[in-house]
Amino acid sequence: MPTKMSIDSKATDLDRNADNEPDPASSSSAEAPGTPSNPQPRGAPSASDAIEERPIDSGQKASGQKAVLGFSTQSVHAGERRQKPEGSVSAPIFTASTYTFESTDSLLRFVDGLEERDEYGRYGTPNERTCEAKLAALEGAEEAIIYSSGMAAIVGLLMSRLSAGDEIVFFDQCYHRSREFCAKHLARFGVVTRQVPTGDFDAMEAAINSKTKMLVSESPTNPHLTAVDLEKFVALGKSNEVETLIDATLATPYNLRPIEYGVDFVLHSATKYLGGHNDLLAGVLCGRSEALAPVRALRGVLGSVNSSHNMYLLERGLKTFELRMQRHNENGQRVAEFLDSHPRVERVYYPGLPSHPTHGIAVSQMRGFGGLITFLVKGADWKETSRVVDAANIPRIAPSLGGVESLIEQPLVMSYYHCTPEERQQFGIYDNMIRMSCGIENAEDLIADICQALDA
Ligand code: PLP
Repeated sequence: MPTKMSIDSKATDLDRNADNEPDPASSSSAEAPGTPSNPQPRGAPSASDAIEERPIDSGQKASGQKAVLGFSTQSVHAGERRQKPEGSVSAPIFTASTYTFESTDSLLRFVDGLEERDEYGRYGTPNERTCEAKLAALEGAEEAIIYSSGMAAIVGLLMSRLSAGDEIVFFDQCYHRSREFCAKHLARFGVVTRQVPTGDFDAMEAAINSKTKMLVSESPTNPHLTAVDLEKFVALGKSNEVETLIDATLATPYNLRPIEYGVDFVLHSATKYLGGHNDLLAGVLCGRSEALAPVRALRGVLGSVNSSHNMYLLERGLKTFELRMQRHNENGQRVAEFLDSHPRVERVYYPGLPSHPTHGIAVSQMRGFGGLITFLVKGADWKETSRVVDAANIPRIAPSLGGVESLIEQPLVMSYYHCTPEERQQFGIYDNMIRMSCGIENAEDLIADICQALDA
């Protein structure tokens, strides 16, 4: 059974890389370069590229044991070539939309799959592939595919996996645009989506039938921070021969490793913690190479790739990923505990608090609980709640989460403004609800600020 501790053990095996054996975290490009109509990753630096020329030595290795790379070492180095153009230590940004061939012979070598290289930007770019290899390594996945946004990743996966007449079952607490895409848009293509209450595995099982192709959930959910029991989720998928998808955006691969539980596809809005600086949009889908091959091929048709400029920012953001997550986890926990003890706060949704209904599941699955906190202001109507939001000085009023800057919002007037009161009730969105994303500022300052905002 995967445990919190197993997160640390899922690191790159230096001995394997030193022997130049394929790294499971790298892309499948070496075996299946593909064709323009079925583009596969080509010319991609693998997760092991950073160390293949001169493996990093360690005391563990000298003593004959297998040496492993830690999470942050992988964040910094995985997916990167050790020697970059002109000796640059940082990645050059490849702005090209197309990649030239020296001759028809060279083109033929490429289309026959004998040469790995880039061809046309809609099938991917060197910067995108570096991030893909880095993220695959961090997630412990065979492969990762980058998209233009988290939503593009969800749409890309579901469009690739589902056909008219298929069904999916998903837990109802989720990012509202994911719910909208499933319930509203997939229906136009003849795909039936069934929503069941989050965490209700009996309801999920009852909703599965012979047409069901995928089970979908977030963990933790947005904005209620409900942790979903991944063992039960995967067991249900496997016993019914149905694939499973976890959107782990709020957890990140630092706090949760769904692939170790047997989840088929893990998705992140990299716009959030992975990018981490509120300055890019990106999505990433992780899983087995074989399962992702048709998904990648469809991305090449849909064109939902990202830009090299964004990929440079993502790669740069990932270098400090572990450090940022440690601070997000610390700030989230401390601010949540403070809110939990404040007389003006009715309820706090944070998986790191014993009062959260899924605290036990979160503790058994996660390394930390992130920076996102949702809370209710006691006895406040929507205007009084807005006054708390407006009185906060450090967090900026904005949607999104996971960046170094703290953000605050009232879901009623942000994402759910155009819903009817009945819909809001159904989605568990209350007038006195505030969602705060703790950045990496100092916890004492965040606490003092939210305290004065509640007391104002
Ligand atoms: N999944 C979750 C849990 C989210 O919170 C979001 C966005 O807020 C998305 C997916 C969509 O990501 P993006 O905004 O990058 O399209």
